[in-house]
Order: sequence, then structure tokens, then C-alpha cells
Amino acid sequence: PPDVERLGRHTWTFLHTTASYFPPSPSPHQKTAMLSLLRALPTLYPCGSCASHLGSYLEAHPPEPEVESGREALEKWLCGVHNEVNERLGKDRFDCGDVPQRWRDGWAD
Ligand code: FAD
Repeated sequence: PPDVERLGRHTWTFLHTTASYFPPSPSPHQKTAMLSLLRALPTLYPCGSCASHLGSYLEAHPPEPEVESGREALEKWLCGVHNEVNERLGKDRFDCGDVPQRWRDGWAD
């Protein structure tokens, strides 16, 4: 089986970076593609218990309104997904206000 920690770290990098580069005003095609990507994870993510928790989270917090709205809302929604996992694993919550700096803009020296 895959190394769940390493897989997780790299998957979060991909997902947060993709959300932070999602357009502020996405086209219909971009919205559909983003929803397909998110909805595929509970089926395909190669950590069964992670995938199953994620499926429940998506049912309780559907991403449609945020994807409809665009980058900023999607970044916050995904930060919420990750924080739910952080809490479940006993890790610190991340300040969602820091997402653009962490995943797009970087920090000044
Ligand atoms: P990670 O949690 O991988 O975070 C990487 C970096 O992201 C952090 O260093 C920080 O800079 C940033 N970050 C942290 N929180 C946020 C946030 N809320 N918003 C934006 N950026 C943030 N592991 C399990 O053991 N059980 C599970 O059920 C489980 N479910 C998962 C579900 C998904 C969808 C994914 C992608 C991963 C899951 N994992 C699960 C893996 C787990 O979340 C971590 O990736 C893994 O434990 C490694 O943790 P880490 O401390 O290196 O940092």
C-alpha cells in the first residue's frame, strides 16, 4: 500500500496549489473540471479510510457553491477540508487566511 503520509503531503500540495490557481471567475468548463476532480477523489484516492472520510465530508459540505463562486471561496473550502483531517489526526488547524501566501504568493524575506 502507498505511504499515506507522503501521499497526503503531495496530494495536498497538488490540491491547494490547483485551488490557488483556479480563476477568480472560472469558465463553465473550468467549473465542471474542478467538480469532476473533487468528486473523483472518494472513488480513486488510494487510501481507503481517507477516501471514505472524504466522501462523507463532501456530502456534508458540497463544493458546488464555492466552485461556482471561484478561487477565493474554493481556497477556503479546501482549507476547511484539510482542517477537518488535521483535527481528526490531532494536528494543528491551519489559519485559512494564510492560504494565498502558503500556496500562491509566497512570503516576503
Ligand atoms: P499535511 O497535512 O500533509 O500538510 C502539508 C502542508 O499543508 C502543511 O505543512 C501546511 O503548510 C499546509 N496545510 C496544513 N493544513 C492546511 C489547511 N487546512 N489549508 C491549507 N494548507 C494547509 N491521513 C490519515 O492518516 N488519515 C486520513 O483519514 C487522511 N485523510 C486524508 C484525506 C485527504 C484528501 C488527503 C489529501 C490526505 C489525507 N491524509 C490522511 C494524509 C494527511 O492529511 C497528511 O497529509 C499526512 O498525515 C502528512 O501530514 P503533514 O503533517 O506532513 O502535513
